[in-house]
Amino acid sequence: MLCDTVGRKITYLRISVTDRCNLRCTYCMPEEGVPLLDHSKILSFDEITEFTRTAVSMGIVKVRLTGGEPLVRRGIIELVGRIASIEGISDLSMTTNGQLLSLFAKELRQAGLSRINISLDATDPVRYSEITRGGDVQKVFEGIRSALEAGLEPVKINCVVAHSREEKDARDVAAFAAENGLQVRYIQTMDLHKGNFGIVDGGDGGDCPKCNRLRLTATGKVKPCLFSDLEYDLRTLGAKNALEMAVQNKPKRGGHNTTGEFFNIGG
Ligand code: SAM
Ligand code: SF4
Repeated sequence: MLCDTVGRKITYLRISVTDRCNLRCTYCMPEEGVPLLDHSKILSFDEITEFTRTAVSMGIVKVRLTGGEPLVRRGIIELVGRIASIEGISDLSMTTNGQLLSLFAKELRQAGLSRINISLDATDPVRYSEITRGGDVQKVFEGIRSALEAGLEPVKINCVVAHSREEKDARDVAAFAAENGLQVRYIQTMDLHKGNFGIVDGGDGGDCPKCNRLRLTATGKVKPCLFSDLEYDLRTLGAKNALEMAVQNKPKRGGHNTTGEFFNIGG
């Protein structure tokens, strides 16, 4: 059992499998993209799987794969299969932008993924393309359909808003979700560096006293809090030590993060 110094039980691990992405959302990535990391810096499937196995043996029961865009990591189906075969995980999910989802939904389900969150901030094709700098909203709709057909349920929508769910784009997303039986979580645009964050409307993120999360970055840093620079390196400390140190030092409340970005921590 992983329990931190203020009594929070840590049961949820979010794994960023890549910091590459096929979109450039305005609130997440610079237009020109980000420097590509050397391959040797990125955790291998063996390293991710072994780390997850250790985390599960210590009390993690819920695992989410994220990124960057997890579906651009080569071999992602194999990785899902390897993680799904770890005994003790009761909920294995993924967060994706949905651009490639129609190609992968069935295989993801067969490999053992339980469910999926899909990011969708606008249903209008022009607005969607503006926000994501070039994304195709039709691809997201196809991806959602494929996810439902494959039984990756519940399908949840992540909708980033400037301030509230009453904005035009968010209302469009709400109407689309209602028509298709999808749940929506509205996430206020956060600023890691300034430390601006709030409780996710319809979800459970951003609520420090209830936080049960740890994060693993694509380069092997175990992070106890999105809004903190603290990180413990898996490769130098080993999985068990890195996990224990992250839990022991998990901040009571989020502050700000001067070194990381959404695309490399995974949101
Ligand atoms: N590429 C995938 C996607 O977009 O779903 C997974 C990674 S993305 C970093 C995970 C989530 O973080 C997405 O739902 C995205 O909308 C959210 N996100 C990214 N930047 C954000 C920001 N500045 N404020 C709030 N949410 C953000
Ligand atoms: Fe890519 Fe997701 Fe960031 Fe958009 S939010 S740029 S899809 S990682």
